[in-house]
Amino acid sequence: RLVPAGVVAGAGMAAAMLLLVRRQASLAAALRAALRHDEFFLLYQPVVDLRSGCWVGVEALLRWRRATGELIGPDLFIPIAEQTGTIARLTERVLQLVEQDMRHFLAIRPAFHVALNLSPSDLHSDAIVGLFDAMFARGSVKAANLIVEITERGTLDLGAAQPVIGALRERGIGVAIDDFGTGYAGLSYLESLRVDFLKIDRSFIEAIGTCAPTNQVVGHIIAMATAMELAMVAEGIETLAQADYLRERGVQLAQGWMFGKPQHRDDVVAALAAMAATDASPAGTPVAEG
Ligand code: C2E
Ligand code: MG
Ligand code: MG
Ligand code: MG
Repeated sequence: RLVPAGVVAGAGMAAAMLLLVRRQASLAAALRAALRHDEFFLLYQPVVDLRSGCWVGVEALLRWRRATGELIGPDLFIPIAEQTGTIARLTERVLQLVEQDMRHFLAIRPAFHVALNLSPSDLHSDAIVGLFDAMFARGSVKAANLIVEITERGTLDLGAAQPVIGALRERGIGVAIDDFGTGYAGLSYLESLRVDFLKIDRSFIEAIGTCAPTNQVVGHIIAMATAMELAMVAEGIETLAQADYLRERGVQLAQGWMFGKPQHRDDVVAALAAMAATDASPAGTPVAEG
């Protein structure tokens, strides 16, 4: 060997890093182009009251439809947007779409809410507060119609986020901790952040009634949220047994394929109109996503 192994490894590493950086740069460019070409849209998953089965709101879930027709889910592009700094513009687009679509929902159901997902970096500056204030000034959507979901995954800078979250709550926007129980932060979040809802992650719902080692965890999360007087939203309900378990233990709200898949705005409008007409909810009739 003429070249020491360490040098070869170092050179290979640098090349790999360079490839990674180039790939990220091109993905970031693709995301910016997609914003210009209006390739993003929202699907809405119903949030139901577990006692009545009625829809109380929806969660907005972002989708990217490429010019090729290919549909890309947020698990693929949100992390890239977060790593490359494109996320702020993506979040701004989500707010525009929510405002536009909410007008249709609120025309039928004035007390309806939409929950939207924010990335940690969205909460590190008060720019987001300005976007909401501008939305409220235009008048069609009110703070009471909005919930922001803050994921417990990833790295939230609590010091920077606290005043921003405080400003959102001051305006009457609801705040939910998403994916609760999966992050490293856990209880320390709840000690230092005042929030309104805990969203119990789907992984704990899946374990209900099974022999999975985590099958008891959901019971502890519910007991803790109850003690802290936090409302709960369970995500990923697929079976009646899961819904029964949660309702019996006092969980108020739920989402999942059992109640409805993420669906297009016009399908939500049609469902709300049908409910208004019959004054009953078609809970348990899932609508295909797409
Ligand atoms: P999340 O906020 O925890 O959303 C729940 C995910 O579970 C959604 O996946 C939803 O389609 C899926 N889901 C709902 N019910 C069921 C069920 O019964 N069974 C199963 N197997 N899955 C169910 P989706 O839409 O792919 O979103 C993935 C994640 O991407 C979201 O997780 C959220 O963290 C993030 N995300 C989505 N939209 C946005 C956005 O506009 N901005 C940001 N920053 N993140 C977003
Ligand atoms: Mg969410
Ligand atoms: Mg969630
Ligand atoms: Mg989740």
